[in-house]
Amino acid sequence: MKLDAPFPDRYRSAMRRMTPATIAAVDLAACDRCGLCLPLCPPEALHLERNVLTVEYGTCTGCEKCVAPCPVGALTMVAYA
Ligand code: SF4
Ligand code: SF4
Repeated sequence: MKLDAPFPDRYRSAMRRMTPATIAAVDLAACDRCGLCLPLCPPEALHLERNVLTVEYGTCTGCEKCVAPCPVGALTMVAYA
C-alpha cells in the first residue's frame, strides 16, 4: 500500500473534520493564570501546570469556546501548522 497515495474524497473530508483549521494559542505574557478557561474546554485541551497554561495541540478541536471568556484576551486562534 502506498502511504502517500491520495486519499479518496470520503477520507479527506473525514480528516478535515478531525484536523482543525485553527487551534487556540495562549499569550503567556498576558495570561494571569486565573484558570477560568479550563472548564470551558470540551475536550480538556487546556492545562494549568506549574503556573503555566498550555494548549494540548493534538486535543484542541478549534471550537473557540475558550477565547471570548478570557478576561485578559490571552487566548487567540492561530492556523494549525
Ligand atoms: S482565562 Fe485567560 S487569563 Fe485565565 S488562565 Fe485562561 S488564558 Fe489565562
Ligand atoms: S479552542 Fe476549544 S478545544 Fe481548543 S483549547 Fe479552546 S475550548 Fe479547548
